[in-house]
Amino acid sequence: MSTEIEKKNNNFIYKIINEDFKKNKNLLLHTRFPPEPNGYLHIGHAKSIHLNFELANLYNGYCNLRFDDTNPTKENIKYINSIQKDIKWLGYKWHKKICYSSEYFPKLYEYAKELIKKGLAYVDELTKQEIREYRGTLKTIGKNSPYRNRSIEDNLKLFKKMKKGQFNEGEACLRAKINMNSSFIVMRDPVLYRIIFSTHHQTENKWCIYPTYDFAHCLSDSIEGITHSFCTLEFQDNKNLYNWILKNTSVKHYPKQYEFSRLNLEYSILSKRKITVLIEKKIVDGWDDPRILTISGLKRKGYTASSIREFCRRIGITKQNNLVEFSMLEYCIRKELNQKAIRTMAILEPIKIFLYNIDDSYKEKLIVPNHPNNPNLGTHEVIFTNTIYIEREDFKEKYDKKYKRLKIGAEIRLRYAYIIKAEKIEKDKNGNIINIICFCDINSLGKKPINKKNPAVIHWIAVKNSFPAQFKLYNQLFKIKNPEKEKNFLSFLNSDSLIRKSGFIEKKIAQNIIKKMNNNSVCLSFQFERIGYFCLDEFDSKKNKLVFNRTVHLRDSWNFKKIKN
Ligand code: ATP
Ligand code: MG
Repeated sequence: MSTEIEKKNNNFIYKIINEDFKKNKNLLLHTRFPPEPNGYLHIGHAKSIHLNFELANLYNGYCNLRFDDTNPTKENIKYINSIQKDIKWLGYKWHKKICYSSEYFPKLYEYAKELIKKGLAYVDELTKQEIREYRGTLKTIGKNSPYRNRSIEDNLKLFKKMKKGQFNEGEACLRAKINMNSSFIVMRDPVLYRIIFSTHHQTENKWCIYPTYDFAHCLSDSIEGITHSFCTLEFQDNKNLYNWILKNTSVKHYPKQYEFSRLNLEYSILSKRKITVLIEKKIVDGWDDPRILTISGLKRKGYTASSIREFCRRIGITKQNNLVEFSMLEYCIRKELNQKAIRTMAILEPIKIFLYNIDDSYKEKLIVPNHPNNPNLGTHEVIFTNTIYIEREDFKEKYDKKYKRLKIGAEIRLRYAYIIKAEKIEKDKNGNIINIICFCDINSLGKKPINKKNPAVIHWIAVKNSFPAQFKLYNQLFKIKNPEKEKNFLSFLNSDSLIRKSGFIEKKIAQNIIKKMNNNSVCLSFQFERIGYFCLDEFDSKKNKLVFNRTVHLRDSWNFKKIKN
Protein backbone atom coordinates (compact mmCIF):
# COMPACT_ATOMS: atom_id res chain seq x y z
CA MET A 1 0.00 0.00 0.00
CA SER A 2 2.69 2.45 0.94
CA THR A 3 5.53 3.45 -1.26
CA GLU A 4 8.91 4.93 -0.56
CA ILE A 5 8.07 7.75 -2.97
CA GLU A 6 5.38 8.99 -0.63
CA LYS A 7 7.96 9.17 2.11
CA LYS A 8 9.98 11.58 0.02
CA ASN A 9 7.22 13.66 -1.52
CA ASN A 10 6.45 17.22 -0.63
CA ASN A 11 3.45 16.62 1.57
CA PHE A 12 3.89 18.72 4.70
CA ILE A 13 3.16 15.81 7.03
CA TYR A 14 5.98 13.67 5.63
CA LYS A 15 8.29 16.66 5.93
CA ILE A 16 7.42 17.04 9.62
CA ILE A 17 7.87 13.35 10.33
CA ASN A 18 11.11 13.09 8.36
CA GLU A 19 12.47 16.04 10.36
CA ASP A 20 11.42 14.33 13.60
CA PHE A 21 13.27 11.20 12.54
CA LYS A 22 16.37 13.27 11.85
CA LYS A 23 16.21 14.60 15.41
CA ASN A 24 15.49 11.22 16.91
CA LYS A 25 16.61 8.12 15.05
CA ASN A 26 14.79 5.86 17.51
CA LEU A 27 11.45 7.58 17.13
CA LEU A 28 8.58 5.12 17.17
CA LEU A 29 5.77 6.77 15.25
CA HIS A 30 2.47 6.32 17.02
CA THR A 31 -0.75 7.73 15.55
CA ARG A 32 -4.40 7.21 16.40
CA PHE A 33 -7.80 7.36 14.79
CA PRO A 34 -10.25 8.78 17.35
CA PRO A 35 -13.89 8.47 16.21
CA GLU A 36 -16.75 9.47 18.41
CA PRO A 37 -19.18 6.53 18.37
CA ASN A 38 -22.17 8.67 17.45
CA GLY A 39 -22.66 7.53 13.86
CA TYR A 40 -21.24 5.41 11.08
CA LEU A 41 -17.95 6.24 9.40
CA HIS A 42 -18.01 8.16 6.12
CA ILE A 43 -15.59 8.94 3.33
CA GLY A 44 -14.23 11.90 5.34
CA HIS A 45 -13.26 9.53 8.12
CA ALA A 46 -11.66 7.30 5.49
CA LYS A 47 -9.31 10.19 4.69
CA SER A 48 -8.25 10.36 8.33
CA ILE A 49 -8.05 6.56 8.67
CA HIS A 50 -5.93 6.36 5.54
CA LEU A 51 -3.59 9.07 6.83
CA ASN A 52 -3.10 7.62 10.31
CA PHE A 53 -2.86 3.94 9.43
CA GLU A 54 -0.77 4.40 6.29
CA LEU A 55 1.73 6.59 8.17
CA ALA A 56 2.04 3.94 10.86
CA ASN A 57 2.61 1.27 8.18
CA LEU A 58 5.10 3.37 6.27
CA TYR A 59 7.25 4.26 9.27
CA ASN A 60 6.89 0.90 11.04
CA GLY A 61 4.95 2.47 13.85
CA TYR A 62 1.55 1.91 15.37
CA CYS A 63 -1.91 3.30 15.00
CA ASN A 64 -4.46 3.06 17.80
CA LEU A 65 -8.18 2.94 17.39
CA ARG A 66 -9.56 5.06 20.20
CA PHE A 67 -13.21 5.69 20.76
CA ASP A 68 -13.57 9.25 21.84
CA ASP A 69 -16.53 8.43 24.04
CA THR A 70 -17.06 11.41 26.30
CA ASN A 71 -20.70 12.13 25.55
CA PRO A 72 -22.98 9.23 26.57
CA THR A 73 -26.16 10.97 25.38
CA LYS A 74 -25.17 10.64 21.74
CA GLU A 75 -23.17 7.45 21.70
CA ASN A 76 -24.21 3.90 21.12
CA ILE A 77 -22.67 0.43 21.09
CA LYS A 78 -24.04 -0.20 17.59
CA TYR A 79 -21.77 2.57 16.32
CA ILE A 80 -18.78 1.06 18.13
CA ASN A 81 -19.41 -2.18 16.27
CA SER A 82 -19.99 -0.61 12.86
CA ILE A 83 -16.85 1.54 13.15
CA GLN A 84 -14.68 -1.50 13.88
CA LYS A 85 -16.22 -3.42 11.00
CA ASP A 86 -15.64 -0.57 8.54
CA ILE A 87 -12.00 -0.04 9.54
CA LYS A 88 -11.29 -3.75 9.10
CA TRP A 89 -13.10 -3.75 5.77
CA LEU A 90 -10.96 -0.82 4.62
CA GLY A 91 -8.01 -3.10 5.24
CA TYR A 92 -6.50 -1.68 8.42
CA LYS A 93 -5.50 -3.21 11.73
CA TRP A 94 -5.23 -1.17 14.88
CA HIS A 95 -2.49 -1.61 17.42
CA LYS A 96 -3.26 -4.13 20.17
CA LYS A 97 -6.61 -3.71 21.83
CA ILE A 98 -9.18 -1.02 21.16
CA CYS A 99 -8.82 2.04 23.38
CA TYR A 100 -11.58 4.16 24.86
CA SER A 101 -11.25 7.65 26.33
CA SER A 102 -13.64 6.39 29.00
CA GLU A 103 -10.94 3.94 30.20
CA TYR A 104 -9.01 6.97 31.35
CA PHE A 105 -11.82 8.65 33.30
CA PRO A 106 -10.17 7.90 36.69
CA LYS A 107 -6.85 9.35 35.47
CA LEU A 108 -8.50 12.35 33.86
CA TYR A 109 -10.31 13.05 37.12
CA GLU A 110 -6.96 13.11 38.92
CA TYR A 111 -5.48 15.49 36.29
CA ALA A 112 -8.49 17.79 36.78
CA LYS A 113 -7.88 17.83 40.54
CA GLU A 114 -4.25 18.62 39.85
CA LEU A 115 -5.29 21.71 37.87
CA ILE A 116 -7.59 22.79 40.72
CA LYS A 117 -4.77 22.36 43.22
CA LYS A 118 -2.53 24.53 41.08
CA GLY A 119 -5.22 27.22 41.05
CA LEU A 120 -5.75 26.56 37.32
CA ALA A 121 -9.33 25.30 37.37
CA TYR A 122 -12.52 26.24 39.18
CA VAL A 123 -16.10 25.11 39.60
CA ASP A 124 -18.42 27.55 37.90
CA GLU A 125 -22.13 27.87 38.63
CA LEU A 126 -23.10 30.15 35.79
CA THR A 127 -25.70 28.69 33.48
CA LYS A 128 -24.72 27.48 30.02
CA GLN A 129 -26.29 30.59 28.53
CA GLU A 130 -24.44 32.89 30.94
CA ILE A 131 -21.15 31.18 30.21
CA ARG A 132 -21.75 31.85 26.53
CA GLU A 133 -22.53 35.50 27.17
CA TYR A 134 -19.56 36.02 29.49
CA ARG A 135 -17.25 34.43 26.93
CA GLY A 136 -17.52 37.41 24.56
CA THR A 137 -16.93 37.29 20.82
CA LEU A 138 -14.09 37.67 18.34
CA LYS A 139 -14.66 41.43 18.59
CA THR A 140 -15.30 41.77 22.31
CA ILE A 141 -13.30 40.51 25.24
CA GLY A 142 -14.77 38.12 27.79
CA LYS A 143 -15.84 38.76 31.36
CA ASN A 144 -14.73 36.85 34.44
CA SER A 145 -17.28 34.59 36.12
CA PRO A 146 -18.16 35.68 39.69
CA TYR A 147 -17.16 32.13 40.76
CA ARG A 148 -13.68 32.41 39.24
CA ASN A 149 -11.85 33.27 42.43
CA ARG A 150 -13.08 30.53 44.71
CA SER A 151 -10.47 29.02 47.02
CA ILE A 152 -8.71 25.81 46.02
CA GLU A 153 -10.38 24.01 48.97
CA ASP A 154 -13.85 25.14 47.89
CA ASN A 155 -13.18 24.10 44.32
CA LEU A 156 -11.96 20.64 45.39
CA LYS A 157 -15.06 20.21 47.57
CA LEU A 158 -17.43 21.38 44.86
CA PHE A 159 -15.78 19.22 42.19
CA LYS A 160 -16.23 16.23 44.46
CA LYS A 161 -19.85 17.23 44.93
CA MET A 162 -20.23 17.31 41.14
CA LYS A 163 -18.77 13.81 40.91
CA LYS A 164 -21.08 12.52 43.61
CA GLY A 165 -24.13 13.69 41.69
CA GLN A 166 -25.10 16.36 44.19
CA PHE A 167 -25.64 18.99 41.48
CA ASN A 168 -28.23 18.81 38.75
CA GLU A 169 -27.20 18.82 35.10
CA GLY A 170 -26.21 22.33 34.07
CA GLU A 171 -25.90 23.62 37.63
CA ALA A 172 -22.11 23.44 37.78
CA CYS A 173 -19.13 22.71 35.58
CA LEU A 174 -15.37 22.68 35.90
CA ARG A 175 -13.52 25.35 33.93
CA ALA A 176 -9.86 25.99 33.28
CA LYS A 177 -8.68 29.33 34.61
CA ILE A 178 -6.77 30.76 31.66
CA ASN A 179 -7.58 34.18 30.25
CA MET A 180 -10.99 35.69 29.54
CA ASN A 181 -9.30 38.27 27.31
CA SER A 182 -7.43 35.84 25.14
CA SER A 183 -7.68 36.44 21.41
CA PHE A 184 -8.39 32.71 21.15
CA ILE A 185 -11.95 32.21 22.33
CA VAL A 186 -11.13 28.59 23.10
CA MET A 187 -8.71 29.88 25.81
CA ARG A 188 -11.36 31.95 27.64
CA ASP A 189 -11.73 29.61 30.58
CA PRO A 190 -12.88 26.55 28.61
CA VAL A 191 -15.15 23.99 30.24
CA LEU A 192 -13.27 20.84 31.23
CA TYR A 193 -16.03 18.80 32.86
CA ARG A 194 -19.82 18.87 32.66
CA ILE A 195 -22.54 16.95 34.47
CA ILE A 196 -24.49 14.37 32.44
CA PHE A 197 -26.86 11.89 34.07
CA SER A 198 -26.91 9.28 31.38
CA THR A 199 -25.83 5.64 31.26
CA HIS A 200 -22.54 5.28 29.40
CA HIS A 201 -22.04 2.28 27.09
CA GLN A 202 -18.69 1.45 28.75
CA THR A 203 -18.73 2.87 32.27
CA GLU A 204 -22.48 2.51 32.82
CA ASN A 205 -23.50 4.65 35.79
CA LYS A 206 -20.09 4.98 37.42
CA TRP A 207 -19.72 8.62 36.37
CA CYS A 208 -22.04 11.57 36.14
CA ILE A 209 -19.31 14.05 35.21
CA TYR A 210 -17.76 13.78 31.78
CA PRO A 211 -14.62 15.47 30.41
CA THR A 212 -15.03 17.66 27.33
CA TYR A 213 -13.37 16.72 24.04
CA ASP A 214 -10.58 19.25 24.61
CA PHE A 215 -9.71 17.96 28.05
CA ALA A 216 -9.94 14.27 27.23
CA HIS A 217 -8.27 14.33 23.85
CA CYS A 218 -4.80 15.63 24.62
CA LEU A 219 -4.57 13.61 27.82
CA SER A 220 -5.71 10.41 26.08
CA ASP A 221 -3.08 11.03 23.40
CA SER A 222 -0.47 11.44 26.11
CA ILE A 223 -1.55 8.36 28.08
CA GLU A 224 -1.36 6.22 24.93
CA GLY A 225 2.07 7.55 23.95
CA ILE A 226 0.81 9.07 20.69
CA THR A 227 3.62 10.96 18.95
CA HIS A 228 1.69 12.70 16.15
CA SER A 229 -1.94 13.63 16.68
CA PHE A 230 -3.62 14.59 13.39
CA CYS A 231 -6.88 16.45 13.37
CA THR A 232 -8.81 18.66 10.98
CA LEU A 233 -8.23 22.39 10.55
CA GLU A 234 -11.09 23.60 12.69
CA PHE A 235 -9.08 22.45 15.72
CA GLN A 236 -6.21 24.79 14.92
CA ASP A 237 -7.10 27.19 17.76
CA ASN A 238 -7.74 24.29 20.12
CA LYS A 239 -4.06 23.40 19.81
CA ASN A 240 -3.35 26.21 22.29
CA LEU A 241 -5.55 24.48 24.82
CA TYR A 242 -4.16 21.06 23.90
CA ASN A 243 -0.67 22.27 24.76
CA TRP A 244 -1.81 24.27 27.81
CA ILE A 245 -3.38 21.21 29.41
CA LEU A 246 -0.32 19.04 28.75
CA LYS A 247 1.99 21.75 30.08
CA ASN A 248 0.03 22.23 33.30
CA THR A 249 -0.54 18.62 34.26
CA SER A 250 2.11 16.12 35.33
CA VAL A 251 1.98 14.08 32.12
CA LYS A 252 5.08 12.18 31.14
CA HIS A 253 4.60 12.24 27.40
CA TYR A 254 4.00 15.19 25.08
CA PRO A 255 2.24 14.38 21.81
CA LYS A 256 2.06 17.05 19.11
CA GLN A 257 -1.05 18.09 17.25
CA TYR A 258 -1.02 18.78 13.49
CA GLU A 259 -3.96 19.88 11.39
CA PHE A 260 -5.00 19.02 7.85
CA SER A 261 -8.02 20.03 5.79
CA ARG A 262 -11.15 17.96 6.12
CA LEU A 263 -12.63 16.30 3.10
CA ASN A 264 -15.55 18.06 1.45
CA LEU A 265 -17.00 16.32 -1.55
CA GLU A 266 -19.31 17.78 -4.20
CA TYR A 267 -23.05 17.15 -3.82
CA SER A 268 -22.49 15.49 -0.45
CA ILE A 269 -23.13 15.93 3.23
CA LEU A 270 -20.42 14.56 5.51
CA SER A 271 -21.49 15.85 8.88
CA LYS A 272 -22.79 13.02 11.02
CA ARG A 273 -25.34 15.36 12.55
CA LYS A 274 -26.78 16.16 9.14
CA ILE A 275 -26.62 12.54 7.96
CA THR A 276 -28.60 11.65 11.08
CA VAL A 277 -31.28 14.15 10.02
CA LEU A 278 -31.50 12.47 6.59
CA ILE A 279 -31.98 9.10 8.29
CA GLU A 280 -34.45 10.27 10.91
CA LYS A 281 -36.58 12.04 8.32
CA LYS A 282 -36.45 8.85 6.21
CA ILE A 283 -35.02 10.74 3.25
CA VAL A 284 -32.56 7.88 2.96
CA ASP A 285 -33.03 4.28 4.08
CA GLY A 286 -30.43 4.15 6.84
CA TRP A 287 -26.70 4.46 7.40
CA ASP A 288 -25.93 2.09 4.52
CA ASP A 289 -28.07 3.84 1.92
CA PRO A 290 -25.87 4.04 -1.21
CA ARG A 291 -26.79 7.70 -1.66
CA ILE A 292 -24.87 8.79 1.43
CA LEU A 293 -21.13 8.52 1.55
CA THR A 294 -20.82 6.34 4.60
CA ILE A 295 -18.36 3.48 4.21
CA SER A 296 -21.24 1.01 4.43
CA GLY A 297 -23.28 3.01 1.87
CA LEU A 298 -20.35 3.07 -0.55
CA LYS A 299 -19.78 -0.65 0.00
CA ARG A 300 -23.41 -1.40 -0.74
CA LYS A 301 -23.18 0.74 -3.85
CA GLY A 302 -20.34 -1.47 -5.08
CA TYR A 303 -17.24 0.48 -4.05
CA THR A 304 -14.31 -1.65 -3.02
CA ALA A 305 -11.97 -0.94 -0.13
CA SER A 306 -9.08 -0.59 -2.58
CA SER A 307 -10.95 2.06 -4.60
CA ILE A 308 -11.59 4.09 -1.44
CA ARG A 309 -7.95 3.82 -0.41
CA GLU A 310 -6.94 4.89 -3.91
CA PHE A 311 -9.25 7.90 -3.66
CA CYS A 312 -7.66 8.90 -0.34
CA ARG A 313 -4.19 8.52 -1.83
CA ARG A 314 -5.10 10.71 -4.79
CA ILE A 315 -6.68 13.55 -2.81
CA GLY A 316 -3.66 13.63 -0.51
CA ILE A 317 -3.29 15.74 2.61
CA THR A 318 -3.11 19.51 2.52
CA LYS A 319 -3.94 22.50 4.64
CA GLN A 320 -6.28 24.06 2.05
CA ASN A 321 -9.99 23.53 2.44
CA ASN A 322 -11.53 22.71 -0.90
CA LEU A 323 -14.38 20.83 -2.50
CA VAL A 324 -13.23 17.61 -4.13
CA GLU A 325 -14.92 16.72 -7.43
CA PHE A 326 -17.30 13.83 -7.17
CA SER A 327 -15.93 12.46 -10.43
CA MET A 328 -12.63 11.81 -8.64
CA LEU A 329 -14.30 9.25 -6.39
CA GLU A 330 -16.09 7.70 -9.35
CA TYR A 331 -12.88 7.59 -11.36
CA CYS A 332 -11.25 5.39 -8.71
CA ILE A 333 -13.95 2.72 -8.71
CA ARG A 334 -14.51 2.87 -12.46
CA LYS A 335 -10.83 2.30 -13.12
CA GLU A 336 -10.83 -0.77 -10.91
CA LEU A 337 -14.08 -2.23 -12.22
CA ASN A 338 -13.04 -1.63 -15.80
CA GLN A 339 -10.22 -4.08 -15.19
CA LYS A 340 -12.00 -6.72 -13.20
CA ALA A 341 -15.78 -6.60 -13.71
CA ILE A 342 -17.32 -9.32 -15.83
CA ARG A 343 -19.21 -8.01 -18.85
CA THR A 344 -22.75 -9.22 -19.28
CA MET A 345 -26.00 -8.00 -20.78
CA ALA A 346 -28.94 -6.68 -18.80
CA ILE A 347 -32.16 -5.09 -19.94
CA LEU A 348 -33.42 -2.42 -17.59
CA GLU A 349 -36.59 -1.49 -19.44
CA PRO A 350 -37.53 -4.29 -21.81
CA ILE A 351 -39.34 -4.25 -25.12
CA LYS A 352 -39.84 -7.46 -27.10
CA ILE A 353 -38.54 -8.30 -30.57
CA PHE A 354 -39.87 -11.13 -32.72
CA LEU A 355 -37.63 -12.43 -35.50
CA TYR A 356 -40.17 -13.78 -37.93
CA ASN A 357 -37.76 -15.69 -40.19
CA ILE A 358 -36.42 -17.82 -37.33
CA ASP A 359 -38.15 -21.00 -36.14
CA ASP A 360 -39.75 -21.16 -32.73
CA SER A 361 -37.61 -24.19 -31.92
CA TYR A 362 -34.33 -22.54 -32.94
CA LYS A 363 -31.85 -22.17 -30.09
CA GLU A 364 -28.24 -21.19 -30.65
CA LYS A 365 -25.55 -21.13 -28.00
CA LEU A 366 -23.09 -18.30 -28.39
CA ILE A 367 -19.90 -18.16 -26.35
CA VAL A 368 -19.07 -14.60 -25.37
CA PRO A 369 -16.01 -13.21 -23.58
CA ASN A 370 -16.37 -12.05 -19.98
CA HIS A 371 -13.94 -9.21 -20.63
CA PRO A 372 -12.88 -7.60 -23.91
CA ASN A 373 -9.14 -7.46 -23.08
CA ASN A 374 -8.63 -10.04 -20.40
CA PRO A 375 -9.08 -13.61 -21.59
CA ASN A 376 -8.21 -14.85 -18.09
CA LEU A 377 -11.67 -13.79 -16.99
CA GLY A 378 -13.12 -16.50 -19.23
CA THR A 379 -16.30 -16.71 -21.26
CA HIS A 380 -19.96 -17.45 -20.75
CA GLU A 381 -22.79 -18.84 -22.81
CA VAL A 382 -25.56 -16.72 -24.26
CA ILE A 383 -28.66 -18.20 -25.90
CA PHE A 384 -30.10 -16.81 -29.12
CA THR A 385 -33.74 -17.52 -30.12
CA ASN A 386 -36.43 -15.79 -32.15
CA THR A 387 -37.88 -13.79 -29.24
CA ILE A 388 -35.60 -11.38 -27.45
CA TYR A 389 -35.73 -8.34 -25.22
CA ILE A 390 -33.97 -5.12 -26.07
CA GLU A 391 -33.84 -1.86 -24.18
CA ARG A 392 -36.91 0.31 -24.76
CA GLU A 393 -34.75 3.29 -25.49
CA ASP A 394 -32.95 1.42 -28.27
CA PHE A 395 -36.07 1.62 -30.45
CA LYS A 396 -37.85 4.63 -31.84
CA GLU A 397 -41.27 4.30 -33.39
CA LYS A 398 -41.40 7.73 -34.98
CA TYR A 399 -39.01 8.12 -37.88
CA ASP A 400 -36.00 10.19 -36.95
CA LYS A 401 -33.18 10.55 -39.43
CA LYS A 402 -30.61 11.22 -36.74
CA TYR A 403 -31.58 8.26 -34.56
CA LYS A 404 -28.89 5.61 -34.97
CA ARG A 405 -30.46 2.66 -33.22
CA LEU A 406 -33.45 0.48 -34.14
CA LYS A 407 -36.24 2.11 -36.18
CA ILE A 408 -38.57 0.82 -38.87
CA GLY A 409 -36.62 0.06 -42.01
CA ALA A 410 -33.22 0.32 -40.33
CA GLU A 411 -30.67 -2.30 -39.37
CA ILE A 412 -28.74 -2.76 -36.19
CA ARG A 413 -26.44 -5.46 -34.89
CA LEU A 414 -27.28 -7.47 -31.80
CA ARG A 415 -24.16 -7.58 -29.63
CA TYR A 416 -22.20 -10.82 -30.28
CA ALA A 417 -24.96 -11.95 -32.69
CA TYR A 418 -26.81 -11.04 -35.86
CA ILE A 419 -27.89 -8.00 -37.80
CA ILE A 420 -31.63 -7.43 -37.64
CA LYS A 421 -33.96 -5.11 -39.52
CA ALA A 422 -37.18 -3.72 -38.03
CA GLU A 423 -40.16 -4.07 -40.33
CA LYS A 424 -43.29 -3.36 -38.33
CA ILE A 425 -44.71 -3.13 -34.84
CA GLU A 426 -47.60 -4.87 -33.11
CA LYS A 427 -49.56 -2.99 -30.51
CA ASP A 428 -52.16 -3.99 -27.95
CA LYS A 429 -55.57 -2.32 -27.84
CA ASN A 430 -54.19 0.44 -25.63
CA GLY A 431 -51.58 1.31 -28.20
CA ASN A 432 -48.60 -0.17 -26.31
CA ILE A 433 -45.99 -1.92 -28.38
CA ILE A 434 -45.98 -5.66 -27.67
CA ASN A 435 -43.66 -6.79 -30.43
CA ILE A 436 -41.28 -5.29 -32.90
CA ILE A 437 -41.30 -7.59 -35.86
CA CYS A 438 -37.84 -7.91 -37.36
CA PHE A 439 -36.00 -9.76 -40.06
CA CYS A 440 -32.79 -11.50 -38.98
CA ASP A 441 -29.89 -11.70 -41.44
CA ILE A 442 -28.79 -15.24 -40.61
CA ASN A 443 -25.54 -14.85 -42.55
CA SER A 444 -24.34 -11.91 -40.54
CA LEU A 445 -22.88 -13.63 -37.45
CA GLY A 446 -19.35 -12.35 -36.94
CA LYS A 447 -19.32 -10.73 -40.39
CA LYS A 448 -19.14 -7.12 -41.33
CA PRO A 449 -21.99 -6.11 -43.62
CA ILE A 450 -20.91 -5.77 -47.26
CA ASN A 451 -21.39 -2.39 -48.89
CA LYS A 452 -23.20 -1.05 -45.91
CA LYS A 453 -22.20 1.26 -43.16
CA ASN A 454 -21.53 -0.49 -39.89
CA PRO A 455 -24.82 -0.58 -38.05
CA ALA A 456 -25.03 0.36 -34.38
CA VAL A 457 -24.70 -2.43 -31.83
CA ILE A 458 -27.30 -2.92 -29.11
CA HIS A 459 -27.54 -5.39 -26.23
CA TRP A 460 -30.30 -7.96 -25.90
CA ILE A 461 -31.38 -11.04 -23.96
CA ALA A 462 -33.41 -13.95 -25.33
CA VAL A 463 -36.68 -14.27 -23.44
CA LYS A 464 -35.81 -17.93 -22.73
CA ASN A 465 -32.46 -16.85 -21.32
CA SER A 466 -33.79 -14.06 -19.10
CA PHE A 467 -33.97 -13.86 -15.34
CA PRO A 468 -36.00 -11.11 -13.61
CA ALA A 469 -34.02 -8.40 -11.89
CA GLN A 470 -34.51 -5.00 -10.37
CA PHE A 471 -32.13 -2.16 -10.83
CA LYS A 472 -31.58 0.77 -8.54
CA LEU A 473 -30.09 3.75 -10.32
CA TYR A 474 -28.59 6.28 -7.97
CA ASN A 475 -28.10 9.93 -8.69
CA GLN A 476 -26.79 12.65 -6.44
CA LEU A 477 -28.87 13.25 -3.36
CA PHE A 478 -28.50 17.02 -3.65
CA LYS A 479 -29.00 19.35 -6.57
CA ILE A 480 -26.27 21.75 -5.52
CA LYS A 481 -22.53 21.27 -5.35
CA ASN A 482 -22.06 22.30 -1.75
CA PRO A 483 -25.13 21.42 0.34
CA GLU A 484 -22.98 21.29 3.50
CA LYS A 485 -22.74 25.08 3.34
CA GLU A 486 -26.49 25.58 3.32
CA LYS A 487 -28.40 25.98 6.55
CA ASN A 488 -31.57 24.61 4.98
CA PHE A 489 -29.77 21.83 3.13
CA LEU A 490 -32.98 19.80 2.98
CA SER A 491 -34.48 22.17 0.45
CA PHE A 492 -31.88 21.15 -2.13
CA LEU A 493 -32.74 17.46 -2.35
CA ASN A 494 -32.83 15.80 -5.76
CA SER A 495 -36.16 14.03 -6.18
CA ASP A 496 -34.57 11.63 -8.69
CA SER A 497 -31.80 10.43 -6.41
CA LEU A 498 -33.10 6.86 -6.71
CA ILE A 499 -34.78 5.47 -9.81
CA ARG A 500 -35.97 1.86 -9.86
CA LYS A 501 -36.27 -0.24 -12.98
CA SER A 502 -37.51 -3.78 -13.52
CA GLY A 503 -35.99 -5.89 -16.23
CA PHE A 504 -33.82 -8.92 -16.84
CA ILE A 505 -30.31 -10.26 -16.67
CA GLU A 506 -28.84 -13.30 -18.38
CA LYS A 507 -29.89 -16.58 -16.80
CA LYS A 508 -26.39 -18.13 -16.61
CA ILE A 509 -25.09 -15.07 -14.78
CA ALA A 510 -28.08 -15.12 -12.43
CA GLN A 511 -27.53 -18.81 -11.61
CA ASN A 512 -23.92 -18.10 -10.84
CA ILE A 513 -24.83 -15.18 -8.60
CA ILE A 514 -27.37 -17.24 -6.68
CA LYS A 515 -24.70 -19.87 -6.00
CA LYS A 516 -22.35 -17.24 -4.64
CA MET A 517 -24.88 -15.18 -2.71
CA ASN A 518 -24.18 -14.65 0.99
CA ASN A 519 -20.51 -15.32 0.50
CA ASN A 520 -18.94 -12.03 1.45
CA SER A 521 -15.58 -12.81 -0.08
CA VAL A 522 -16.78 -12.87 -3.68
CA CYS A 523 -17.16 -9.76 -5.72
CA LEU A 524 -20.55 -9.54 -7.33
CA SER A 525 -19.83 -6.55 -9.52
CA PHE A 526 -20.59 -6.51 -13.22
CA GLN A 527 -20.46 -4.30 -16.21
CA PHE A 528 -23.88 -4.38 -17.79
CA GLU A 529 -22.84 -3.65 -21.35
CA ARG A 530 -23.66 -0.15 -22.54
CA ILE A 531 -25.35 0.68 -19.22
CA GLY A 532 -22.89 0.86 -16.37
CA TYR A 533 -21.22 -0.91 -13.50
CA PHE A 534 -23.57 -2.59 -11.06
CA CYS A 535 -23.28 -4.79 -8.00
CA LEU A 536 -25.66 -7.18 -6.35
CA ASP A 537 -27.58 -5.60 -3.49
CA GLU A 538 -27.09 -8.37 -0.97
CA PHE A 539 -29.70 -6.98 1.39
CA ASP A 540 -32.58 -6.62 -1.04
CA SER A 541 -31.91 -9.61 -3.29
CA LYS A 542 -33.81 -12.86 -3.02
CA LYS A 543 -33.13 -16.08 -4.86
CA ASN A 544 -36.05 -15.46 -7.22
CA LYS A 545 -35.46 -11.76 -7.68
CA LEU A 546 -32.07 -10.20 -7.86
CA VAL A 547 -31.56 -6.52 -7.13
CA PHE A 548 -28.63 -4.54 -8.47
CA ASN A 549 -27.25 -1.18 -7.44
CA ARG A 550 -25.65 1.03 -10.02
CA THR A 551 -22.14 1.69 -8.78
CA VAL A 552 -21.07 4.12 -11.46
CA HIS A 553 -21.71 5.10 -15.07
CA LEU A 554 -19.48 3.65 -17.78
CA ARG A 555 -17.97 7.02 -18.49
CA ASP A 556 -17.53 10.19 -16.60
CA SER A 557 -20.90 11.46 -17.65
CA TRP A 558 -21.52 13.24 -14.43
CA ASN A 559 -23.41 16.33 -15.30
CA PHE A 560 -26.14 17.56 -13.10
CA LYS A 561 -28.11 19.08 -15.96
CA LYS A 562 -28.93 15.55 -17.07
CA ILE A 563 -30.93 14.96 -13.95
CA LYS A 564 -34.53 15.98 -14.13
CA ASN A 565 -35.55 18.19 -11.26
P1 ATP B 1 -18.67 14.77 11.90
O1 ATP B 1 -18.67 16.23 11.62
O2 ATP B 1 -18.97 13.94 10.71
O3 ATP B 1 -19.46 14.40 13.09
P2 ATP B 1 -16.38 14.50 13.52
O4 ATP B 1 -15.09 15.15 13.30
O5 ATP B 1 -17.21 15.01 14.64
O6 ATP B 1 -17.16 14.45 12.16
P3 ATP B 1 -15.30 12.17 14.70
O7 ATP B 1 -15.91 10.86 14.92
O8 ATP B 1 -14.99 13.01 15.88
O9 ATP B 1 -16.24 12.97 13.71
O10 ATP B 1 -14.03 12.04 13.77
C1 ATP B 1 -13.00 11.12 13.92
C2 ATP B 1 -11.81 11.57 13.14
O11 ATP B 1 -12.14 11.68 11.77
C3 ATP B 1 -11.33 12.92 13.60
O12 ATP B 1 -9.93 12.86 13.73
C4 ATP B 1 -11.75 13.85 12.50
O13 ATP B 1 -10.85 14.89 12.35
C5 ATP B 1 -11.77 12.94 11.28
N1 ATP B 1 -12.74 13.41 10.31
C6 ATP B 1 -14.07 13.54 10.46
N2 ATP B 1 -14.64 14.06 9.36
C7 ATP B 1 -13.65 14.26 8.47
C8 ATP B 1 -13.57 14.79 7.14
N3 ATP B 1 -14.64 15.21 6.50
N4 ATP B 1 -12.35 14.84 6.55
C9 ATP B 1 -11.25 14.41 7.18
N5 ATP B 1 -11.24 13.92 8.42
C10 ATP B 1 -12.42 13.85 9.08
MG1 MG C 1 -16.46 14.92 16.68
